[in-house]
Amino acid sequence: MLANVGIEQNLVEVRQRIAQAAARGKRDPSTIRLLAVSKTQPISSLEEAYQAGQRAFAENRVQEWLEKAPALPNDCEWHLVGKLQTNKVKYLDQRIFMIHSLDRFSLLEKLNEQGERRQLVWTTLVQVNVARDPAKAGLMPEEIPDFLNSIGDYPYVHVQGFMTIGALEASKAETQGFFRQLRVLRDTLQSQTWSGVDLRELSMGMSQDFELAIEEGATLVRVGRRIFGERG
Ligand SMILES: *Cc1c(COP(=O)(O)O)cnc(C)c1O
Repeated sequence: MLANVGIEQNLVEVRQRIAQAAARGKRDPSTIRLLAVSKTQPISSLEEAYQAGQRAFAENRVQEWLEKAPALPNDCEWHLVGKLQTNKVKYLDQRIFMIHSLDRFSLLEKLNEQGERRQLVWTTLVQVNVARDPAKAGLMPEEIPDFLNSIGDYPYVHVQGFMTIGALEASKAETQGFFRQLRVLRDTLQSQTWSGVDLRELSMGMSQDFELAIEEGATLVRVGRRIFGERG
């Protein structure tokens, strides 16, 4: 299994593998950002990653983020991934760089309310369930155009792209297919103009499949265990 030691070394390796995957996909590596998914990891591990030059971190629970954020330097970039409960939105502020899990109208409304209260515009990604996995969150691909159509009615929410999670039991070919579907959906919808929407980002790929995701066009990869080791 993955070693729990050597966060700095793990980061070096992951960055190398990102560069190699970018080369295979004929992509400029500077268009791919590595997010260190630090959920459940102790603050000391985040500090170790920070020392090794990592600045972008992703958490999936608001409560945990509230505890960790003040412990890390101010130039950390915080991403929220995973199901976001509407009753947690009130705790979010300008320290959140991007929310990857916009997946329903009720959350859109709550974010807009809170954005107005704080006078800031949230940068979000719409989560798409390309795998059609009933266990996973996210809108179905066919629901996306209607959803994007309404973003303009919520001035405190900006959509900057799509996010997806591959299916748990998928083969490599299936996973590749899901990533490709998300890119094709983006490319198709990008030709239309939506208010409050630009579709530059594709957040896809985790420890087991980030290279595949990069070859298929990911701009944000979310890597946890490959950096920090297995979660306790
Ligand atoms: C936990 C998590 C990841 C990271 O998964 P690893 O397998 O540890 O790389 C990425 N994205 C989301 C949404 C997650 O919840």
